[in-house]
Parts: sequence; structure tokens; C-alpha cells
Amino acid sequence: MDRVVISAVLFLVVLAYGVRARPSRGYEEYIWEHLPELLDRLQRLDYADEPIINSLEPRVVPHWPNGVKVGQVGGVAVDPINGDVLIFHRGEREWGYNSFVGDEFAPGQSTIKNDTILRLDRTTGQILDSFGADRFYMPHGLTVDNAGNIWVTDVALHQVMMFPRGSHEPSDIVLGTAMTPGSDDDHFCKPTDVAVASNGDFFVSDGYCNGRIMKFSKDGNLLKQWGKRSTGNTGPLSEDEFFVPHSLALIEARNIICVADREHGRIQCFSAGMNGTEAGQFVRSFDNKEFGKVFAIAYDNNGPEEAIYLVSGPIPNAYLFKINLNGQILYRTEPPNRMLGDNFEGFGQPHDIAVSHDGRDIYTGEIVPKRILKFRQM
Ligand code: ZN
Repeated sequence: MDRVVISAVLFLVVLAYGVRARPSRGYEEYIWEHLPELLDRLQRLDYADEPIINSLEPRVVPHWPNGVKVGQVGGVAVDPINGDVLIFHRGEREWGYNSFVGDEFAPGQSTIKNDTILRLDRTTGQILDSFGADRFYMPHGLTVDNAGNIWVTDVALHQVMMFPRGSHEPSDIVLGTAMTPGSDDDHFCKPTDVAVASNGDFFVSDGYCNGRIMKFSKDGNLLKQWGKRSTGNTGPLSEDEFFVPHSLALIEARNIICVADREHGRIQCFSAGMNGTEAGQFVRSFDNKEFGKVFAIAYDNNGPEEAIYLVSGPIPNAYLFKINLNGQILYRTEPPNRMLGDNFEGFGQPHDIAVSHDGRDIYTGEIVPKRILKFRQM
């Protein structure tokens, strides 16, 4: 920044000298006549060392989705078929200290009466469809697969469900045992997210109280699982040690599945086991102290280079990051809340992130404040 200031001062000195050397001409006249070249010079002055990517930071689209009330937003995803935005939120329910007793959902709480799944128009933000009332207790992750089926996880039910495209009723594939946490093949413990391959195989991150990734065939048969729950030791972490695996991003073209290892603040990527290869082999890690806790990740291959978006949090470390596959941070941003009229500075507690299939739009869902934002990349 200092260099920019020095450059600007030098520029003004040069400019003043130039004006004095032309006493017969007015200052304004000179400026206007030479404005293009002056601006050009100003832009080239010493700016090479400054980050060049600020202009690429996405801007919040104001008033989207206008007037749509949501509770704590667990999941957000984009329908790959038509670009609709899907939200999984908690309605009037809030996850508080008394929500769980150990790993089990505290007794005496009813299902959420609101429609918990909303389908929004990507442009207008209008609600196109809503369902999922009187079924869920604590909505968490939401994923839309390539066929448009909607997958959700409920951390109170300890279950994963799939709603076939267009259906308001779940398919026969309901994994996990309702209200019963566990760590064997038939139980989850607060499962967080789902990622679905184009052949129908799917991955589940399980979850808050288990530290494992499970891979299932499209029929729901367990194919593979790996990972262990963090021991909490301060020593070196092993590659498959998770402290709340919280979000998944499948990069199918590279045959890798990436995991937001939330509390460890890192992204761990493993072979996805497509095309007969073995799933769960460690491939690489994205680890940067700047991230803080990594709540959610999304992959995008539209730009000049492949990218991963992530949301971190909670405040004061709540940001939207874009990184490339070398792990370089391309930008770190937050919503300009004064413009949005919120009392919050930046993000509060962002929980999930999704990117449109053309890579132009990014959507974030937050627990605090209860909202969904749309960002447009310039
Ligand atoms: Zn969560």
C-alpha cells in the first residue's frame, strides 16, 4: 500500500511539474487533453506488486432473494439441470445447547412445521417450490445430483434421504436409522453432507461424532469407508483424521473427493475410486492458517484455472475464499453489509456454499444471520 501512496505522490509531482512547464495552458485543459495517457501512466505506476485480482472479487446481488424468509440455513445447492437454487433450512428450529443430549437429539421436540426445502429462481429469487414440512428435526446438508435428485442429511435423524426429481416424498434409499446414532454400517452419527457421482455412486461425510467418509453404490450398498475421528492430540495429524468432516466436493474428472475437515481448518482430498480404482487413498491437502475453520467447499472448473470455493467461520474469521488447485488464495471476501442493511459486519456464521454451473454465481447459506446470499463474479 505504501508503494501505491508513494507512486501517487510522485505522479502528482510529475504532473505539477508538467503543468508549470506549460504556463500558457490552464490546468484543467491540460488534464483533459492528456487524461487518457495520464490514466494509463497512473495504472502502470508500480501497481505490478499489488494484488491484481481484487477486481475479480464477486459482488453481492442486492435484494436476492427478495422477501424470502429462512431459518438457519444448513444447505444450499444449485440444480445442474436448470440453475434453480435449493435451500435446506431449519424454519423455527435453532441448534442450541439443549438440542442434543450427547449424540442423541433431545427428547420432546417435534418435527419442523415449516417447509424446509425451498426451490428458488436463480434470477428473481422467487420461491418456485417448497416441501419438507413435518419431516425433519435438524436439517443440515443438501446436494442436487446430475439427474436433479435432491439429497439431504438431518443430524437429529442421523439419516440421509434422497428426493427424486420433482417428488416431495423420499425414495426408498433412506440410509441410517431414525433418531439412532451409531458408527457401524447401518448407522450414521450426525451426517453432514452428500456428494453424488454421475454413475450414481455417492459419498457421505459422517459426521459430527464419527470421523469417516463412506462410499455407497447407487443402490445404497456400502462400498468403502475410511477415516477416523480426531483424537484431539496436539501432535501431527494423520491424513485421514477428521474433526467434523462437514462438506464434500467431488472432482470427478480428477477422480478425487475432497472433504472440508472443519475443525482442523483444512481440506483433505482422496481418490474417489471411480473406474475401478480404490477409493480413500490420500491425494493431497489444502491447508492454510488463513482459512480458520472450513465449513463448506465447492468446486468450479469454469475459469481459466480450476478453483475451490470455501466458506470459513465463525466470526471474526468468516470469509468466502477462492483458491486454485495449487492452494493459492485468489481472493478472500465478505459481504458489504452496510449495503445490505444488516447490522452484521461481513458474514456471521456461513455454513454452506454452492456455485452455478457456469461459474458466475456463488450462493452462501448462513446460520447467523439467517440468510442466503447470491454473489456474482465480475
Ligand atoms: Zn454444520
